[in-house]
Amino acid sequence: MPDIIQLLPDNIANQIAAGEVIQRPASAVKELLENAVDAGADEVKLIINDAGKSLIQVIDNGKGMSETDARMAFERHATSKISNIEDLFRIKTMGFRGEALASIAAVAQVELKTKRAEDETGVYLEIENSIVIKQEPVAAPTGTSIAMKNLFFNVPARRNFLKSNPAELRHIVDEFIRVAMAFPEVFFSLSSNGQEVFHLEKGTLKQRIVQILGNNYNAKLVSVQEHTDYMNIYGFVGKPETAKKTRGDQYFFVNNRFIKSAYLNHALMNAFDAMIAKDSFPMYALFIDLDPSQLDINVHPTKQEIKFEDEKIVYAFVQSAVKHALAQFSITPTLDFDLDVSIQQLDAVSKPFTEEKKSSATSSSLYSTFTKKHQSHFIESKSELKHWKDFYEPENKVNIDNPTLSGDEIGRGQQALHAANDQRTSTDNLTQLHNSYIVVQTNKGYYLVHQQNAHERILYEQFIAAVDGKPIATQRSLFPATLELSVTDAVLLNELLPDLNHLGYLLEPFGNNTFVIQGSPADVTDGNEKVAVEKMLEQYKHFSNDLKYTKREKLLRSLALQQSIKAGVSLTDKEMRVLIENLFNCSTPNITPNGKPTYLEFKKDELDKMFGR
Ligand code: ADP
Ligand code: MG
Repeated sequence: MPDIIQLLPDNIANQIAAGEVIQRPASAVKELLENAVDAGADEVKLIINDAGKSLIQVIDNGKGMSETDARMAFERHATSKISNIEDLFRIKTMGFRGEALASIAAVAQVELKTKRAEDETGVYLEIENSIVIKQEPVAAPTGTSIAMKNLFFNVPARRNFLKSNPAELRHIVDEFIRVAMAFPEVFFSLSSNGQEVFHLEKGTLKQRIVQILGNNYNAKLVSVQEHTDYMNIYGFVGKPETAKKTRGDQYFFVNNRFIKSAYLNHALMNAFDAMIAKDSFPMYALFIDLDPSQLDINVHPTKQEIKFEDEKIVYAFVQSAVKHALAQFSITPTLDFDLDVSIQQLDAVSKPFTEEKKSSATSSSLYSTFTKKHQSHFIESKSELKHWKDFYEPENKVNIDNPTLSGDEIGRGQQALHAANDQRTSTDNLTQLHNSYIVVQTNKGYYLVHQQNAHERILYEQFIAAVDGKPIATQRSLFPATLELSVTDAVLLNELLPDLNHLGYLLEPFGNNTFVIQGSPADVTDGNEKVAVEKMLEQYKHFSNDLKYTKREKLLRSLALQQSIKAGVSLTDKEMRVLIENLFNCSTPNITPNGKPTYLEFKKDELDKMFGR
């Protein structure tokens, strides 16, 4: 038998290694931008076509490379940034592994043009499959331009694995923002398919944040700044009122490197404590500087996760710095929900209800006076509790003639069929309670309808019908509003345009992340179109991490949630009647798309029993 082990050819070894570093166009973007920054550039231009699939080019005015260095740069483990293991603990540059260019040259066609200030002419290189196929002198400005074309042209399996252009573009924009945010003293631009989407002039960090995240942050940033011998923190957090329902605008940088850290995020959320609603996320862009020897940035191949030598100190430091900043600017808490702040902070509301508390509560005198028999505050004893529960159970009635239920409702629907009965409702005398509930009398008792939940169900079913072919009519706007979005939101909205069109929204892309709202459904009042679309996007992003829903399903749910009449709104008799009729014409009237009850049924029999009749 012959021996069977052989060394892999260089280009194949490089291709395999490349898998670690370059997973998608955005990873190449990150590496090239970091190289430009490491080269001392103060002007960096990123150009992409087809979401980076056909072209990613970075042009910088950094220090450039000599002819020999230019060739060396594409060798694996070739770096000018470290020369021994101790250097790893003194790292001040973004790169240091010497793998990026070698990886890129293994999986794309690369064209490099580079010139140092001291050289007369520059050098031009073409590389494919890790092999230099062309090299010649070239006239060039000082700096470097690297173009990588047809990413994964020689690794079809990886190429096929790439997502849609909008999805890949979003990843690229994310990486671009992370680098641009960390270096406000550097000019950055990003052009996609010939259109400039970002043009970030040099400036302060604050200016950079506003350039990237939008003008609405302009007067809404609180500066964070603490310096100690051990570490520094600086940057900005958004005032509590800018907190969003989605986790978008949150950036941590350690020694200028963007990192993901659930741990530090927790420290920050703690610092905001009761100032924001529990389910919302504050904006932050915070930079932590500490001695590189206190870090291990080597844990993750793309270096987005790092290990601190002493995590607890960093946690405490971040938390107190942010708390301090918020206090100093005497931010008064503003909550975007109904409950009063003082109530929010009561232990009873904010702390979990433990067994221990339960027993102390039941032994209190207050509890016993409320539980004495034959008093009006009578609370059912344990054995009767089950009965109470049945009483409050939402009515599971569905219309058997029209049992079209969407996926996750089928289970509930089948179970509900058994409960179908001959209930008749009357819409003659409807009463609204607390501007939130509608009492509907039936021949067997009454329904207590939650107006917002009910409307959500109605809209959801209307929207399903709309995208299935009965489009909702569009009303042309007399004065079309313009919608200016962040790049990520613009990419998202572009994906949703066709479905939105069926739902009555006529939006036209206007370049530069701007859309003109030419028309909207008739029930969106004039002047509110813009807010409606913005809120829909916000809600959509909130659902975005929910993998179990399709893009369309997320859109329908977002719109239903967002456009439903809210609790607290007073309704006219006619509005109540339409709402109730529409609700009971739904194929699944009893629950919202998310499974909350739309109404509870109160049976006359049971009521009679409770009154001893
Ligand atoms: P690393 O950044 O980890 O050193 P890379 O493969 O990204 O590894 O780059 C290899 C080397 O090529 C760098 O160390 C640097 O000397 C040189 N280089 C890469 N990009 C540029 C650039 N835009 N300008 C000048 N030199 C560069
Ligand atoms: Mg590098």
